[in-house]
Amino acid sequence: MADGNKDIRYLKGVGEKRAKLYEKLGITDLCSLLGHYPRTYIDLTRPVSIAGAPPDGAVPIRAAVVSKTGEQRIRKGLSLFKVVVTDHSSDMVITFFNTKFTVDALEVEQEYIFYGKVEGTFTRKTMASPLVFRSGERAGLIPVYPLTEGLSSKLIRENVRQALAEMEGHIEDPLPKEMREAFHLCHKSYAVQNIHLPPDRAAMEIARDRLIFEELLLCQLAFLRMRNRSKRLKTRPMEPYDLAPFYESLPFTLTGAQRRSIEEACRDMTAGTPMNRLVQGDVGSGKTMVAAAAVYFAARNGAQSALMAPTEILALQHFETLAPVLEPLGVKAALLTGSTRAAKRRELLKSLQAGEIQLLIGTHAIIEETVTFDRLGLVVTDEQHRFGVAQRVRLLSKGENPHVLVMSATPIPRTLAQTIYCDLDLSVIDELPPGRQKIETYCIGSDKRMRAFGFIQKHLDAGKQAYIVCPLVEAGEASDLKPATEYAKLLADRYFSGYTVGLLHGKMKPKDKEAAITRFKNGEIQLLVSTTVVEVGVDVPNAVIMMIENAERFGLSQLHQLRGRVGRGRDQAYCILLSDAKGEQTRKRLQVMCRTTDGFAIAKEDLNLRGPGDFFGLRQHGLPTLKLADLLTDTATLSRAQEAARQILTKDPDLTAPEHRLLVAGVENMMQDVD
Ligand code: ADP
Ligand code: MG
Repeated sequence: MADGNKDIRYLKGVGEKRAKLYEKLGITDLCSLLGHYPRTYIDLTRPVSIAGAPPDGAVPIRAAVVSKTGEQRIRKGLSLFKVVVTDHSSDMVITFFNTKFTVDALEVEQEYIFYGKVEGTFTRKTMASPLVFRSGERAGLIPVYPLTEGLSSKLIRENVRQALAEMEGHIEDPLPKEMREAFHLCHKSYAVQNIHLPPDRAAMEIARDRLIFEELLLCQLAFLRMRNRSKRLKTRPMEPYDLAPFYESLPFTLTGAQRRSIEEACRDMTAGTPMNRLVQGDVGSGKTMVAAAAVYFAARNGAQSALMAPTEILALQHFETLAPVLEPLGVKAALLTGSTRAAKRRELLKSLQAGEIQLLIGTHAIIEETVTFDRLGLVVTDEQHRFGVAQRVRLLSKGENPHVLVMSATPIPRTLAQTIYCDLDLSVIDELPPGRQKIETYCIGSDKRMRAFGFIQKHLDAGKQAYIVCPLVEAGEASDLKPATEYAKLLADRYFSGYTVGLLHGKMKPKDKEAAITRFKNGEIQLLVSTTVVEVGVDVPNAVIMMIENAERFGLSQLHQLRGRVGRGRDQAYCILLSDAKGEQTRKRLQVMCRTTDGFAIAKEDLNLRGPGDFFGLRQHGLPTLKLADLLTDTATLSRAQEAARQILTKDPDLTAPEHRLLVAGVENMMQDVD
């Protein structure tokens, strides 16, 4: 009886040592070995002629061996072999290094497939260290596996072949038969066989399509089940309450998009189930005011709110923005962070429990055990990335099924948002407050740094402020980069000696960070040298220039966040990207920044340029790692999987039906690695 749980050591040639290597790849048994999918394939199905081989990239050449030279020792430990082959379009000289075994096995006049890059001139073609396959061998796609040192693709191939033989006829399919038929999917055992050892591209694609479908289905099931569960929770409906006093107390008129998001949130809260809403909006679109309105609405209904931010700086800033708006309306706000003093903290917690504080703003400090509310009705999280599920659950457990409003700092395309956050309803703020200028963005080399300094000085002289961002805090992490500490000193002493220069970085004490930000806000600091701690949310409308050193070190979305620190007032703002990087990819990325200021468009480009397989830290978004699926390109499969997930949950909301047993196991297995 075949058993997928059989230890990997069961396979021929896998002893203790190899088992250890396999474990590094997360492979312990036959099942996990078969779940280790190829990274790519070597396609031997379409050999090209030596004369016709393209100059770039490896190709398969079917050719016969004409002659072999003996071993040439180049130096100790390095010997070279030359083999002349021909395919009648041309001859070619192949060099092998140290692979005596391979060369000895080659027989003169025999045909083989040599897989490698054809180089050399028109009259003298060469190839170095190709992979060699017997010409008679099944000329299919040869899988290439993600490796770890000491394990070769060839070895994994052999082991996989053996595991497949062992498991043949015993691979169960988690997808019910009707579903496979309805969605035109092959059986799991065909898929597993053909993702590893496909006879041709078509078979591999059928297998891949099926496995991608399954991955996306499991992912959607996980999220939709979460959503269904929360939809079944009950909470006391809030009363509709006139928001006019709130709107009137603001120093500006809210945009239509802000109003719409606010109405959506308030409507959610008047229903009998807890709200689960995500507010998406570009940098500076005014998400905070949506939160403020929701807090006001909850307070009018006698409920307390909690707002959790990822950093102390952000928490403080939210407090400073929200307290003046809400307190005149009778909503008392308090700030609790890791650096709140014990006495203050004790007093604060007491009034919170007594219900005298309506809004508690803070960092992770607010999820601690000792923090108790009188009646927590609304939880707002302002996230750079999603807070972990566990953290969120702890905060939620402080109330009875409280409403949840999530503000996302990273704009991402709507379809992607609907996938990643499919357990949440979505409000999009697709409009910026009026009067915002387009931030002029320039990309320059370091030879123009002095000119940029002059440009900054001109603006400081006019009473404005500026940021300079460097990637590092201290020297030594990487030698060619400017460390913020030294750089700030250099600027203060030399280039900006007549100005006040401040420093802000992640390794400073919270109190010092706060002080630096406050001084910058108050205009006491004219030029703030910072690491990316200013990345999220810091709001100083008088700052009009953002200069970024080593801009190539940052992701596009991160650059966009940084740039969003300026252009928050009415004055024209500028962003200067400094980079000496020459790579085409890098130049392209930075050019995107000069071209557009639309965060959604930038996110899309960012995703495109990074390409599949390098999603922008999806795990941080609370999404499991997907082995094959690519959320950007597999959109058609994604919508089919979404449809399938909906069908399954309509029939079997808790996935308790016996035919869904394997699906549940799959869902749980997939969610295991998400915090
Ligand atoms: P983000 O969406 O990036 O979190 P904020 O909520 O920090 O944006 O708002 C950015 C700035 O815009 C703040 O200074 C805020 O006071 C201001 N603001 C928000 N809404 C409006 C509006 N409707 N009109 C003018 N300014 C606004
Ligand atoms: Mg914000």
